[in-house]
Amino acid sequence: MRIESRYQLLFDAVRIGPVTARNRFYQVPHCSGMGHALPHTLAAMRGMKAEGGWGVVCTEYCSIHASSDDQPHPFASLWDAGDVANLAAMAEQVHAHGALAGVELWHGGSYVPNLASRLPSLGVRSMPSRTEPVQSQRMDRSDIRALRQWHLAAARRAREAGFDIIYVYPTHGYLLSEFLSRSLNDRTDEYGGSLENRVRLARELLEETRAAVGDRCAVAVRFAADGHGDGHLSAAEARDVIGLLGELPDLWDLVVADYYGEEMATSRFVPEGSLEEKVRYVKGLTSKPVVSVGRFTSPDAMVRQVRAGILDLIGAARPSIADPFLPTKIREGRTEDIRECIGCNVCYAYNYRGAAIRCTQNPTMGEEWRRGWHPERVPAGDGGSVLIVGAGPAGLEAAHVLGKRGYSVTIADAAQQPGGRVTLESRLPGLAEWARVRDYRLGQIRRLPNVSLYLGSMLSAADVREFASDHILIATGARWRRDGLGRWHASPLDELAADGVLTPDDIMRGARPTGRVTIFDDDHYYMAPVIAALLARQDAAVTYVTTAGRAGEWSHFTGEQERTQHDLLELGVEIVVGHAVDGFDGQSASLVCIYTGRQRRQAAGTLVLVTSREPQDALYRELIEPAGSEPALRIQRIGDCRQPALIAHAVYAGHEAARELGRPPEQPPLRRDRAVI
Ligand code: ADP
Ligand code: SF4
Repeated sequence: MRIESRYQLLFDAVRIGPVTARNRFYQVPHCSGMGHALPHTLAAMRGMKAEGGWGVVCTEYCSIHASSDDQPHPFASLWDAGDVANLAAMAEQVHAHGALAGVELWHGGSYVPNLASRLPSLGVRSMPSRTEPVQSQRMDRSDIRALRQWHLAAARRAREAGFDIIYVYPTHGYLLSEFLSRSLNDRTDEYGGSLENRVRLARELLEETRAAVGDRCAVAVRFAADGHGDGHLSAAEARDVIGLLGELPDLWDLVVADYYGEEMATSRFVPEGSLEEKVRYVKGLTSKPVVSVGRFTSPDAMVRQVRAGILDLIGAARPSIADPFLPTKIREGRTEDIRECIGCNVCYAYNYRGAAIRCTQNPTMGEEWRRGWHPERVPAGDGGSVLIVGAGPAGLEAAHVLGKRGYSVTIADAAQQPGGRVTLESRLPGLAEWARVRDYRLGQIRRLPNVSLYLGSMLSAADVREFASDHILIATGARWRRDGLGRWHASPLDELAADGVLTPDDIMRGARPTGRVTIFDDDHYYMAPVIAALLARQDAAVTYVTTAGRAGEWSHFTGEQERTQHDLLELGVEIVVGHAVDGFDGQSASLVCIYTGRQRRQAAGTLVLVTSREPQDALYRELIEPAGSEPALRIQRIGDCRQPALIAHAVYAGHEAARELGRPPEQPPLRRDRAVI
């Protein structure tokens, strides 16, 4: 197939030291929540990216030694022969599809508490771990010598495992960043003081890695183009570091100082391509290829970066998770098939929780090995008919997968617009990209003649029975509760004036209360803070009350919590933590301290309850109850009407139901990735 000429340059081969990438699509190192713990899962997931056309596929942060252990997050490791064998499986699968394999060698320094290995963590000086009440050990010269040996040994193991690109990693706050830091590095020897001294360790590792493996492997460096913050490494110093090291690595992989606020920020706060201004100068300082990220999903944006001389390689972590086949789709002129990342950071959150990553847009992410799911291929079905009630993310995902499996699919929704919660939520400020979940699936469905979508069609149990399809999927979603029931209140609140009580569903449908508004957040994710910011911007006097310790507490895992709290404070929202709302009379809300039980009143004409959601499963129950048996009716409920959860869960549920339809029950649904003695 001919590549569209304007995208041709994205498929130019790029030389990186002794190796050559087949194109400019570069999956930069990204966490997977698999690492050393799930080697089959990891190998298949990375292999899938190579199959999807990425020119380079890298590991996540890969520990060089047991003194760098990030338990409970499943980091990669190259400590011994076992690790070599496991990562060789990944490199093999990446090579099998014609891509280069990269490994990001890493030492966590003071950042890691070494929960598993129980070795003291090592730092440029003794300082507290980010998460545990322990400090690191100040490194003396013998520790530095040992570190260099560990790095060298890990580089050799990386080559043995088959990697083509080996990283030195002086950024993101880990050990080598500590050495670079003006404020943390208080050494008086040749590793402290001047910039040349602070950069010495990184330089030595680069030189030693190159000397040991550089004949066959490229040596890359990952570095923040604008430094690590003025107290540590200013933007001017970062420029000097690049000047000092410019030609030493074979590749510059550029990031920026503000990890959560910019580099890994969600679409709520930062648009595509936001790193451009900070990284664009680097190509002027080095002749070596430069890669950087920007949540790129638009091939035009990618081409512009290359043409403008900003990047040689288009780096991607999240876009490659949402669509492992993004390069192939561009090459084949199928850009409308790209499953664009929505920038929600649910992938990152699950790594943070110590679990394998998952993706809102790509339900097959992490399931390549254990379920054998392919992001682009589904097995043919038996050709029967399926009725799906509800065209939210669960219903739409099921409809397009079943359509591709050859079923005759009817999907009906009571609303005039498809998309369910995604359509509603994407109307909220900052969540517009979430509509991509709907739009990708609608785009697929439109081209499937065997899938019919009916809007404005509220179906009753009688309608569903009359339809007489072979299979029925109920995807009728969930509604936010109006009675306060949630984590804190196990029973509905009695004392609620009906007038003035709103839920997120009301706000998403256009309710805009003014005056004094109290928002009760017992949900702890994005919904309540997004509503608080929306109303505060429209001049309501907002009090945000949460049972958690901070605003949008769970969004800590998506990297959004700090920005969430910052923005609410800047908007003048009063934040009351550690409190529940336990009553509202139309004039004021009653607040109770969750620790002391002390009560106080807060003037409020409106109370917005963001507590929990009630599954809308009445239709499902009505359909199964008279018949008495669920399987006999071939009826299933999927998504939020079964388990109110994240959009990612709804998409996954729709996908699973659609893939599994007609699968012989004796076949085990998933394999387990674990060591067996
Ligand atoms: P999920 O996240 O599980 O996909 P959503 O809440 O996003 O669920 O979507 C559920 C959709 O189901 C909504 O668009 C709603 O209009 C639709 N729906 C609910 N009950 C019925 C029904 N009885 N007939 C048709 N559509 C329904
Ligand atoms: Fe993008 Fe969200 Fe998928 Fe992560 S989980 S890749 S941010 S769509």
